[in-house]
Amino acid sequence: MTSRKILTIIGARPQFIKASAVSAAIAACPQLTEIVVHTGQHFDANMSDVFFPELGMDKPAYHLAIHGCGHGEMTGRMLIDIEKVMLTEKPDAVLVYGDTNSTLAGALAAAKLHIPVAHVEAGLRSFNMVMPEEINRILTDRVAEWLFTPTSAADQHLLREGVAENRIHQVGDVMFDVALRHGARASAQSDQVRKLDPALQSQAYCLITIHRAENTDNPARMGVIVDALAAFAEQTPVIWPLHPRTRAVFAKQGTLEALARSVTLLNPLGYLDMVYLEKQASLIATDSGGVQKEAFFYRVPCVTLRDETEWTELVEGGWNRVAPPTGAATVLAALRASLGTCGDDIMPYGRGDAAERIVQQLVTDLD
Ligand code: UDP
Repeated sequence: MTSRKILTIIGARPQFIKASAVSAAIAACPQLTEIVVHTGQHFDANMSDVFFPELGMDKPAYHLAIHGCGHGEMTGRMLIDIEKVMLTEKPDAVLVYGDTNSTLAGALAAAKLHIPVAHVEAGLRSFNMVMPEEINRILTDRVAEWLFTPTSAADQHLLREGVAENRIHQVGDVMFDVALRHGARASAQSDQVRKLDPALQSQAYCLITIHRAENTDNPARMGVIVDALAAFAEQTPVIWPLHPRTRAVFAKQGTLEALARSVTLLNPLGYLDMVYLEKQASLIATDSGGVQKEAFFYRVPCVTLRDETEWTELVEGGWNRVAPPTGAATVLAALRASLGTCGDDIMPYGRGDAAERIVQQLVTDLD
């Protein structure tokens, strides 16, 4: 077989992290070559550049620098520019990850050019169409040729939607691959983590991340989260690496300074810093999909500050508790109730070889 060309589209923090595992597997495969396109959806150094060297990834071949606009404009501009790259590069397949605007734009541009699409993290569903992520993932799954799913639940969702069984490949979760590959290297990398009060790190603390629009765009929900955390912080210190979107909300409200009095606020962290803090946390509270799973990988109880989660096996297994941020008292009760708990001995995310299995499937089918 002559070498087949894979065009990978990434643009947001979790995609850099997921791609690190698959890109490494592609690099180790003589039958495939990879061209990486960074759409620019996430562009701050600490939301993008930091991940490439620390996860052993090359600089993307293309950087489209598309950001700072609404969903329609962002997706539309990505479609235009990604199509141009596809026409130049003429890939044999296009690889997209997760559920962002970059995912949808990459999948749609490829499908229109009749280039087969591989979707990593296919089949996830929140059944909440208000979420932009749900729209992106359903449409991407619809046009994808290969649906690489992380779990049996994801397979079931796709089968129920009528997806042909031979397009569904349950390979496991690539984030588990990344955790196994890089988790042991996790250590304090940045000054902001090295300089954290050593007393704080030796105590029980709660690590929190919030970035989903359903929370950040809703002042009532953000108020509930802040009130619950401020109350919880009286008992257990709280460390919060702020996503730029979340920081912007607090800055606009003028509430950053007050929050910083009860909670330790940090800038977004690199992966190794983040995993370092996750591993030592007594509790993680988040609306992130990836952080929910990492809490489980490192056996830390997790409270999900959303109305639902895609990662239902963690709730069923007793590792995760969903606490919709609709009342501070109930969120506070969930945080307190989760502290010190541990779930069942489950193994829902495969064997840590999802990336190799994806590459093997592509090699077989592109032959
Ligand atoms: N993460 C990070 N630094 C941070 C916060 C998160 O490296 O300050 C990592 C986290 O460890 C996980 C991924 O980012 O691997 C999750 O991405 P995010 O929460 O942005 O998106 P989601 O998983 O919800 O799609």
